[in-house]
Amino acid sequence: MKHIVIVGSGHAGLTLSRELRLLNKDIAITLLSRDSGDMYYKPNLSKAISMKKSPADLVMKRKSVLEQEQNINILSEVKVTGIEKEAKCLFYLDSDGVERELDYDQLVLATGASPVDLKLTNSERCISVNSLS
Ligand SMILES: Cc1cc2nc3c(=O)[nH]c(=O)nc-3n(C[C@H](O)[C@H](O)[C@H](O)COP(=O)(O)OP(=O)(O)OC[C@H]3O[C@@H](n4cnc5c(N)ncnc54)[C@H](O)[C@@H]3O)c2cc1C
Repeated sequence: MKHIVIVGSGHAGLTLSRELRLLNKDIAITLLSRDSGDMYYKPNLSKAISMKKSPADLVMKRKSVLEQEQNINILSEVKVTGIEKEAKCLFYLDSDGVERELDYDQLVLATGASPVDLKLTNSERCISVNSLS
């Protein structure tokens, strides 16, 4: 069975897996994410503190529900550390920090962006908000 691996479970990664599954029921799809794998709307992070919402309040769909609905496998709280293009495999650290290997037929990098470091005075007191955690 063809195996498509998507790095990232943000808007891009989860929308892609949903659409791929609609097109083809006979492929294996694995998502890897540094996050919990739960679906949330990132713009809501901006308002969460002022609206006194907890991270759990922002979750729209749990990882387990996504896995069941889309028939996909989500490896959460892992970090992809390398790709071996010729061998079609990637390396990641699992949630216990153990290095693991995963083979793919096709690979999609949907890793989003990192916040700009503004180099402000007292920047150690600034927190970048870019994920639920
Ligand atoms: C606070 C805030 C407010 C925003 N407000 C708006 C708005 O009002 N309107 C608007 O249009 N846009 C807004 N955005 C931008 C919008 O949310 C992003 O453009 C969008 O979420 C990008 O989706 P993405 O899937 O490309 O990336 P992301 O949602 O960032 O997802 C990236 C995924 O990649 C994973 N990942 C990254 N590196 C690795 C790795 N090495 N190993 C494993 N997994 C990895 C992450 O864990 C994550 O799951 C806002 C963003 C933020 C942070």
